[in-house]
This record gives sequence, structure tokens and C-alpha cells, in this order.
Amino acid sequence: MGKTFDIGLERLTGGSEFPIGSSITTNKGHANRLAARAEASELDTMRGASQGTFFLETFGCQMNDHDSEKVAGVLLSRGYQQVESPDSASLILYNTCSIREKAAQKVFSRLGEFGLRQNDGRIIGVLGCVAQQEGEEIFRRAPWVSLVCGSASYSKLPELLAQVEAGNQRVTGLDNDTDETFETTVTRRDNPWRAYLTIIEGCDKACSYCVVPYTRGPERSRASDSILREVRQLAELGYSEVQLLGQTVNSYKDPTARKMRFSELLLAVADEPGIRRVRFTTSHPRDFSRDIVDVIDAQPKLCNHVHLPVQSGSTKVLQAMQRTYTREEYLEKIAMIREAKRTISITTDIIVGFPGETDEDLAETLSLLDAVKYDALFSFKYSPRPHTPSLKMNDVISEEEKSRRLAVLQEKQREIQTARHSAMVGETFELLVSGKSRRENQWSGHTSCHRVINFASQEQALLGKYVQVRVTGATPNGLTGEQAL
Ligand code: SAM
Ligand code: SF4
Repeated sequence: MGKTFDIGLERLTGGSEFPIGSSITTNKGHANRLAARAEASELDTMRGASQGTFFLETFGCQMNDHDSEKVAGVLLSRGYQQVESPDSASLILYNTCSIREKAAQKVFSRLGEFGLRQNDGRIIGVLGCVAQQEGEEIFRRAPWVSLVCGSASYSKLPELLAQVEAGNQRVTGLDNDTDETFETTVTRRDNPWRAYLTIIEGCDKACSYCVVPYTRGPERSRASDSILREVRQLAELGYSEVQLLGQTVNSYKDPTARKMRFSELLLAVADEPGIRRVRFTTSHPRDFSRDIVDVIDAQPKLCNHVHLPVQSGSTKVLQAMQRTYTREEYLEKIAMIREAKRTISITTDIIVGFPGETDEDLAETLSLLDAVKYDALFSFKYSPRPHTPSLKMNDVISEEEKSRRLAVLQEKQREIQTARHSAMVGETFELLVSGKSRRENQWSGHTSCHRVINFASQEQALLGKYVQVRVTGATPNGLTGEQAL
């Protein structure tokens, strides 16, 4: 998902650009910069009172990144101090992803590193999807873990930690059907200009390969007035870009009497003074309707980018995946987006090697790439997951064959991207500058259409500013440019 899209930025900046604890926001009405500063100093005082330090490593998607921001906020408000290495932490937390087996394994290999140094007094916790998926089994596999907590229980973290600190070796928070996840009181945001905001949790779709409905529970939408209140606070704190998050963000259903449609919510968020860009991800093709395209057309603050995962170009495979649309129906949604007055960039996710996928099915996926000409593609080898219907399907494809298909797919996309990027040379884009290279006068930022451009400028202090950049060079994976005066 989105992270891969940021590779250019990460490469340029060589890691995190932002100091730990760079921005703290709350959901409880601290409504301006002064209040935030006062709160930060209050937190400093609390830090002084506590010897606790925490290290938090995040795996997975933007939802997980944002969940970690909530966890960090909760811990900072409890007087913990964040550190950058597990060696100097008294509390070590892994916010985990279980979407593919490899991601889940990574966590157990991290946990294994602590097995040899058991009883050194540190608290180790597993959060997120692996916690929800494996539950108490984690205590059996890694007995040195004392906290297992899923994403819907983060607001309870203070109580759960208090239990661990009191000596309870087996503490769990594993409810996955509450909307409390929206309501952690303090969020520590990593990026000082772009804020993530969860507007819908869980998923009511039932894709046969996907563990998310099991790990994140059923769909719960956040009240529109609560969303807009937080956007207002974020704008007052200086955030100019907000990204609305959800596994199926466009399935949003306002639980209040106002019953705002998703497209109305987008417009209302964009209308908040100080907000200059609004993004949303991930959209599900079945719930993607014309009114979303219409509002993007009508309101330039809505970014001209839609991430619309297709998963396969073959209707037969889509049916086996239980994606609830056919190839033709998906292409109708693409046509709708292409008819917009603004050029809207389209990105997607594709899984290769789903059980029963034939060479003909793969050829259909390749021809879909030719038909749509995606701006970027996130491609995955099918990974069988626990608690999913596809686990029991026959006609399993070998790992070797999956790798071959992935390479073919990626090569096709590489050709498409090379052509698309070359065509952009000479064009000028507005960028929100969010990265500074160690190299002199080199910066990076995102366009509204969510491309990263690395560019040269003689100006100083560009971080957080909007600048015009002319594209001067293109590779299949990125764009370079120079600031346009
Ligand atoms: N909700 C989004 C949607 O409907 O497309 C996607 C959420 S999922 C976290 C991100 C991507 O991971 C999916 O679009 C899919 O391509 C991939 N994915 C999910 N389960 C997978 C599995 N079992 N094996 C391989 N890739 C998987
Ligand atoms: Fe998983 Fe499908 Fe829900 Fe996306 S829509 S989170 S792929 S079940």
C-alpha cells in the first residue's frame, strides 16, 4: 500500500525526518498551537516524573502507522519517553501486520531476539493484527511477552500497562468490535504537516484471502461531527493535509442523524479553514460511486488520486476471491474516473498466484494493466492466511511460479510507468515539501496526485511549504525536478 509509494522520499531523507514526538494532538478540545505547546510542556513534566521509556516498531500499512501514533500518544501522556532503540527501552512494543505470512513471521523473529535475555525486567508487548490473530498463543510461543493487545483496545492501554507494571505477566486486550479505537485521547503525529485520521475501522467485505475482517472486526464508522472537529483542531495546529483512512474508506456510513455521504464528508473536510489537501485511502471498487469523482472535480483541495485495488484482471479469479465485482464492472469505475475534468491518478493492488489462477487469468491481469495504465501498482504473491476461506482451496500455485508471475507483472508495470513518467517531463506540479536530503539543496515532496518528486532548490527552510516544481528527469520509479519560480 501507500508506504511503497513513499520510497523516493525515504531514500532521499535517509530515514525519519521528524523528531520523535514532533507533534502531539488531542481529541479533547486543545484547539490551538498555544494549547498544544502547553500540553507538550505538561507532557515533559510528566516525563520527568517517569523513568519509563518505550520503543515502538511498526509493521504494515498506513492504518498501522496511524495506530502507532495513537499508541505513542497514549504512552507519552502516561509519562513514558520514546527512544529510538530497543536497547534503551523499558517497554518494547511491536505493532504488527498479519496480512501476509512474511510480515507476521518478522514479528516472531524480532521477539526471538529477546528470548535469550529473558527476565531483564523489560516489558515486551505485541500489538495490532498479529496480536488479534494469535491472541494468547503468543504467550506460548514467546513466554517473555507480557502484553498482547489488538487495535480496538488501544484506548485501554493505560489500564493494561498498569496491570503489567503491577507484575501481571499475561495481559490481553483483544476486543475487536468496539469503536473506542477512534477515541484515544492523545495522538502523537509523526508528520507535522500531514495528518492521518481513521474514519472507518474494520471491514464487512469478505474477500476469501484476507485476514482483516478477523483481525480488525466488523465495519464501524466514526461520527461525522467528531471527524470534522478533529480536522478543525488539526488545521489550527498547522496541518494542511489530512488523509482519511479506512480499509474500505468509501464504504463510510455516518452513524449520526446527519447521515453524511462519504462524498459530502470529503467536501466538508476540504471546507475547513487551513486545510489545503484531502486524501483518502483505501477505496473499494464496489462502493466507488460517481459522486466521489464529481466532488474531486468540483473541489481542487481534494487530491486527484484514487487508490482502487483490483486484485486480479480475471472475473473468474475475482469471483473466487469474493471481491463482489467483475472485470467489466471494475473497468466501468475506471472509465468514470477517466471521464473527470481533472486528470486523476489511479493506483492499485494486485495479488498473483491465487489458488486456481491460470496463465490465461494472468494474461487477463496483464491486459487490464494495459487498459488502465496505472500510475503505480502494489503487487503481492498470494499468501495463505489463517481464518480465511481461501486456505482450503485447491490448485495451490507453487512459490516459484508465484515469483515468476510477480516478475512478469512487475515488468509490465515498469514499462507502463516508464512511459507515464517520461511524459511528465516538462510539466509543473505543486508539491508539499516533506523531505530534505543530506545533499545540499535537495528536497522532496508529494504532488496532489501522490507522486514523490526529488527536486533542487536554492531556497532554505522549505519543509512544510507548498512549492511549484518542474519535472526535469524521469525513471520508472521516480521523478526529479527543480523548483519553478
Ligand atoms: N481493503 C483494501 C482492499 O479492499 O483492497 C486492502 C487492504 S489490505 C491491508 C492491502 C492489500 O494487501 C490488499 O489490497 C491485497 O492486495 C493484499 N493482500 C491482502 N491479503 C493478502 C494475502 N492473503 N496474500 C497476498 N496479498 C494480500
Ligand atoms: Fe480485506 Fe477485502 Fe476487506 Fe480489503 S475489502 S480489508 S481486501 S476483506
